[in-house]
Amino acid sequence: MRNEIGEQLPSIRQSPCRIDDSCDESPDREHGSYEVGVGGMTGNVAVVGGSSAGLLTAHLLARKGLRVQVLEVADELDPAPRSLIVTSRMRDLLGPLCDQAVVNEIRRFELFTDGRKATVELERPDLVVERSVLNRVLAQQAQSSGAQIVPGRRFQGLEPTGSALTINVERDRGGTLEEVSAKVVIGADGAFSRVAIAAGWPRQPTVPLVQAVVQLPKDMAPDTSRVWFVPEETPYFYWLIPDSPTRGVLGLIGESGATVRQYLDRFLERRGLNPIEFQSAQIPVYKRWTPVHRRVGDGHVYLVGDAGGQVKVTTVGGIVTGFRGALGVVEAILSGGRSRHLRVLRRELDLHLLIRRVLHQFSQSDYSLVVDLLNASARKALGLYTRDEVARLLWHLCRSQPRLLLLAIRGIFSRRAR
Ligand SMILES: Cc1cc2nc3c(=O)[nH]c(=O)nc-3n(C[C@H](O)[C@H](O)[C@H](O)COP(=O)(O)OP(=O)(O)OC[C@H]3O[C@@H](n4cnc5c(N)ncnc54)[C@H](O)[C@@H]3O)c2cc1C
Repeated sequence: MRNEIGEQLPSIRQSPCRIDDSCDESPDREHGSYEVGVGGMTGNVAVVGGSSAGLLTAHLLARKGLRVQVLEVADELDPAPRSLIVTSRMRDLLGPLCDQAVVNEIRRFELFTDGRKATVELERPDLVVERSVLNRVLAQQAQSSGAQIVPGRRFQGLEPTGSALTINVERDRGGTLEEVSAKVVIGADGAFSRVAIAAGWPRQPTVPLVQAVVQLPKDMAPDTSRVWFVPEETPYFYWLIPDSPTRGVLGLIGESGATVRQYLDRFLERRGLNPIEFQSAQIPVYKRWTPVHRRVGDGHVYLVGDAGGQVKVTTVGGIVTGFRGALGVVEAILSGGRSRHLRVLRRELDLHLLIRRVLHQFSQSDYSLVVDLLNASARKALGLYTRDEVARLLWHLCRSQPRLLLLAIRGIFSRRAR
């Protein structure tokens, strides 16, 4: 079985490797425009941020023979545990590598609203992955491809120097400053990317996400996720995702940090669930495509993952789209700017934005109608196509139940009329 990364990168560089192969092709350094004189520390590409998007980018570039250094502010590449749900697309992208991080598989979704329920059986299970394991696996892979990972380095700023960029880095939180020279800097430093700000991108909007680790209710199967639509509390939704036979994460995306935790507390109380611990953060909210590249002097700056707002705004899931952003940025770097992956990702994120705009208008009666309209063939379409192939999903959903399309069109026009 070939994974997507192995299949798609060869079209750029004709490499037969896939991401989990040990690939012995000789390094190709013909992309001379990215070669730099390196001062101080090694590396002609500096990736800022050693989490999922940054580590995959580092691996893909190092595999192509570029000298890559990952600068990560944390002292160890071992973030706090966090359970994340992703579609099977992640397995297509990473291949067997992904399996080491999978802690559970979700075979069905139960959708609730206003006392109604619809069940969707997934043709290919969603994967619940443990972020710390995923990052560890990606870091090993990046290192085995030749990338150097340097923890304890906080990016402070960058400036053009000669034909390259000088990055200012704080070392070991001690206030000691270092300079790193690189021709290409890749900002993979999350929602509040300092790389993006330093290179002149505007600050991106974010929404608060909070989730609680809970014991699963007795009536809940560990291969089933639950989603509740409660539009008077959030235009997004609540979820409960099992990450083991006995535990799960119950979460909520809101629009204001002040209310999101209150709503979650009340929701937990209504269901008699006791939080074991809380996890929270701000997630970028996609409002339009962020061009991923800027020139700074003679140097190049790119953004991947949350730093570039590569997050599906329907569900605010950013792992798979961040990986696709990494593929695209690598493709752009290696091909001198063009990337089919980025074009496809942009279309996909724009389509999620359109759906989000419609859902943001939905009242309780709209959600009730949606659940009522989910006939067998609409539920089949929902189970067959994932949220990472949203154009196909929408097409088949609307074919199965054209009244859903009418509801969506009404949502679009009611927004325009406001
Ligand atoms: C509670 C929670 C649950 C989530 N659940 C899901 C889910 O179920 N499915 C899903 O797809 N997505 C989920 N997400 C979103 C997902 O986690 C992110 O989209 C994804 O982690 C983004 O990866 P990234 O590599 O772009 O950035 P991040 O994971 O944010 O990593 C950024 C890295 O940059 C480092 N860094 C930051 N600043 C600097 C600096 N100045 N110098 C050096 N290094 C720096 C950070 O330490 C970090 O390692 C969730 C997010 C949260 C908070």
